[in-house]
Amino acid sequence: MPDSNDEKLIVELVACSRCGNPFMVEKGKKSSGDLVCDNCIKLEQRKKQLALGVIDNVLESQKEIGDSIMEVKNKISQSQSNKQFFLEKIKRKSESLTKSIELLQKIDKTKEEKFIDEYKKLFEKLKKDYS
Ligand SMILES: [Zn+2]
Repeated sequence: MPDSNDEKLIVELVACSRCGNPFMVEKGKKSSGDLVCDNCIKLEQRKKQLALGVIDNVLESQKEIGDSIMEVKNKISQSQSNKQFFLEKIKRKSESLTKSIELLQKIDKTKEEKFIDEYKKLFEKLKKDYS
């Protein structure tokens, strides 16, 4: 054993500032702030890890909840736009059908060529809308 190591091996017994249990420290370390035993340091690290784990879990589940909310929101807006699209289509069809009935009544009344032409155009439009 070289002489230079001798000094480092000199230890003393001190009380842990957390739990009060006596433990060995290198001589000279005593002056540097709080003296905490290995058990307390390990306990502290374990607590930190647990806390971080809990935070991770919370963040993870918040993310999952956020994702599923977004998914639901997307589905709602999708079905709403589908519904809107469907309603618009129905509205257009019903308008066209109403107009076609009006035209048929006009044709029946007046027997005018222009209403027949208009009806033909409308009929073509309706055929397109239905296909
Ligand atoms: Zn301790």
